Amino acid sequence: MSDSIELRDTVILGSGCAGLTAAIYTARANLRPLVLEGHEPGGQLSITTLVENFPGWPDGIQGPELIDNMKKQAARFGAEFRTDHLVSADLSVKPFRLKTTHGEIHARTLIIASGASARWLGLPSEQALIGHGVSSCATCDGFFFRDQQIAVVGGGDTAMEEALFLTRFASKVHILHRRDSFRASKVMLERAMAHPKIEICTNTTVEEVLGVEEQSMRGLVVRNTVTRETSTLNVTGLFLGIGHEPNAKMFAGQIDLDDDGYILTHSNVLTRVPGVFACGDVQDRRYRQAITAAGSGCMAALEAEKYLEEHGH
Ligand code: NDP
Repeated sequence: MSDSIELRDTVILGSGCAGLTAAIYTARANLRPLVLEGHEPGGQLSITTLVENFPGWPDGIQGPELIDNMKKQAARFGAEFRTDHLVSADLSVKPFRLKTTHGEIHARTLIIASGASARWLGLPSEQALIGHGVSSCATCDGFFFRDQQIAVVGGGDTAMEEALFLTRFASKVHILHRRDSFRASKVMLERAMAHPKIEICTNTTVEEVLGVEEQSMRGLVVRNTVTRETSTLNVTGLFLGIGHEPNAKMFAGQIDLDDDGYILTHSNVLTRVPGVFACGDVQDRRYRQAITAAGSGCMAALEAEKYLEEHGH
């Protein structure tokens, strides 16, 4: 092995709730973990607002503050953070070889906590207008839509949360949902339904985003799935709240993924490659909560520690 390639006991991919919890535990075990912060440092909590269900915060805590606290806690015990992300990995050799945007790292254990990214509808007009009216992050972009009418797509908690947040800026928020029953929790749905600025349109799909030629969104063509009729909705913003895609594509063929691309684990966080562990939203399609991500991050760290001990490191 070349001297210039660094060898680490533990590399953690991702700096959301799962990755940072894994960093706290592995750092306290003196493994000097290296955290590659990834494309979305801090993960989904860093773009959310108030987190009301993380135990220990009776009045709630802002997502970015919670993430910042976790990062400081991990750094205090010696975790190292790097603004870098994985390009490819070879998990067939030991130590594992990780190519990143800044070079190559060898790792005795790898904790994959790369999370999940917002899903898009996939319409060409939607893709063309990202950043010109189309967004997947209300807390990032809501400010630009002051006194305008906007639409949020989705029927889950993300869509409700985005819509409620956007009422701070927008004159009106239309929630467009493709069915007439909701995945959203009762409390969030009721809050959205009771809000005077929110109108919920069920059985509604988006067919096209208007404004591609002008490079500025000016409306939506929507379809009522019951009558099959289409109509134009005059909104200048479109926010997607339709779930997330796991960030695990780069491991396809090396570890097992399910049909939707989530990493398949056994014994909670073990992948089929010994020494490679997965935690958080990249392997959890069922709970997807900050607290469950933190819990599985802790498990991955304890398993990495055990693995290193068993292999004489
Ligand atoms: P969900 O999977 O719960 O909901 C996704 C929604 O998007 C569904 O209504 C789904 O419709 C719709 N959808 C999916 N694909 C498409 C598509 N191609 N076109 C149109 N609509 C589509 O994801 P969320 O991100 O809302 O929530 C994920 C998890 O995170 C949940 O456990 C949730 O409770 C949690 N969460 C909690 C929050 C909080 O407590 N503050 C905030 C945000 C999320 P359909 O129902 O028809 O499948």
